[in-house]
Amino acid sequence: MRLAFSDLILSALPIVKRLRDHYFEAFFVGGAVRDTVLGLPIKDVDIATSARPEQVLDLFEHCIPTGLQHGTITVINEDIGYEVTTFRLESAYEDHRKPESVLYITELEGDLLRRDFTMNAMALAADGELHDPYGGMADLQSNRLRSVGDPNARFQEDALRMLRAVRFIGVYQLNPAYRTWRALKQHRALLQFIAMERVQAELDKMLTGGSPQRALHFLVASGLLLHLKEPFAKETETALKQAEQSNTTKALFARLHELMDVDLRWSALAIGLQLSYDAAQQALQVLRLSNARTKSILSMVEIHREMINSGYEANEHRLRIKWLSLAIRFGKQAMVDWLSIIHVLPESTPSFSDSLLRQLNEWLEQMFISKLKELSVSGKDLTSHMQKQAGPWVSEYLNKLLLLVAAGELENDKNALLLQASLWD
Ligand code: ATP
Ligand code: MG
Repeated sequence: MRLAFSDLILSALPIVKRLRDHYFEAFFVGGAVRDTVLGLPIKDVDIATSARPEQVLDLFEHCIPTGLQHGTITVINEDIGYEVTTFRLESAYEDHRKPESVLYITELEGDLLRRDFTMNAMALAADGELHDPYGGMADLQSNRLRSVGDPNARFQEDALRMLRAVRFIGVYQLNPAYRTWRALKQHRALLQFIAMERVQAELDKMLTGGSPQRALHFLVASGLLLHLKEPFAKETETALKQAEQSNTTKALFARLHELMDVDLRWSALAIGLQLSYDAAQQALQVLRLSNARTKSILSMVEIHREMINSGYEANEHRLRIKWLSLAIRFGKQAMVDWLSIIHVLPESTPSFSDSLLRQLNEWLEQMFISKLKELSVSGKDLTSHMQKQAGPWVSEYLNKLLLLVAAGELENDKNALLLQASLWD
């Protein structure tokens, strides 16, 4: 079978041709082939070759030895980098992770055999001919994810493959082959050997894109998250165990794709699973999310907690002040983000009525100002007007003034603000 090349593959074609001109074998492999077969856009192009890394370095002018110990050289052609990797076997796996050392070989089939799933173990030649010794095409046609060879051995060699499996099942809407899934569940405890950074990368990829729902469903069903190198807090583990049976969680997963940003999806998960602030924080820390990401996710959790605790239906004025002070504390965008999360949460989590949400949104739009620097008085104005030493009172007064102006209860006028401040004195 011959396949049509996408532009990205076409632009990598000169590399494959050059290797072949020098009597080496060279093929496109991995995700680029899988996505070509599926007619999907290609993210990056990997090339496998019989040439040794030093021969690749000799043949191409612009190279970066990105993964020399694994036989990988990045070849730059017209400003795009392509990973060129020597055919290899992976020597003995240690601790259920990718091995440190590799064994170079000269045959394509051996190189395809070390790959994780049949759909990732196809190769495409320069003339468009597909090499598919393990039946990747047939598996893709029946939406099946299947390990290359014995799934038990493959997951035992490299436990990260279990998370990759769940990701591919989700992203490509596949069903795992029976033996593949059984082996995954059987060996899930081996996930404890995988670095948390890699777990995070896989979870992020599961959550990104059009169908986080399917990946999450299989993730929960696999129980993989109960076997991390650094475990989640008991509270989180309990929530994950309950998630499998819970219709509320299913409903949450089903609407997650409506949120455009991956961190909003993380936030919706933390809120939807009803994790406490501490449990959410622990989970994000264990998963090694950056400080900036952790902060923005936790601010959603915090806003939610504050709003739930606000007794939100009882007193409209108090609710408005609470809402505006949160907007001042976290920024207007955070409030808009939180509203978008609330919209995808299932009905049965403590819910806010549509009319209340509309009201909150309106208050936000009507907010006169939201930042101290927009206020018509400064700390200096206050100290000189009141003839008092600067102290904590300054920021306290400024914040109180800001809230009053934000709520439209006081004009943002210097004299009016100073007058109000002197009334507090
Ligand atoms: P994507 O780039 O969308 O994440 P991919 O399949 O291209 O998916 P890469 O990590 O880019 O994944 O790896 C390229 C190829 O290398 C894979 O298609 C697969 O053939 C092989 N591969 C990657 N990781 C593993 C692994 N842990 N075990 C076995 N083979 C792997
Ligand atoms: Mg790839």
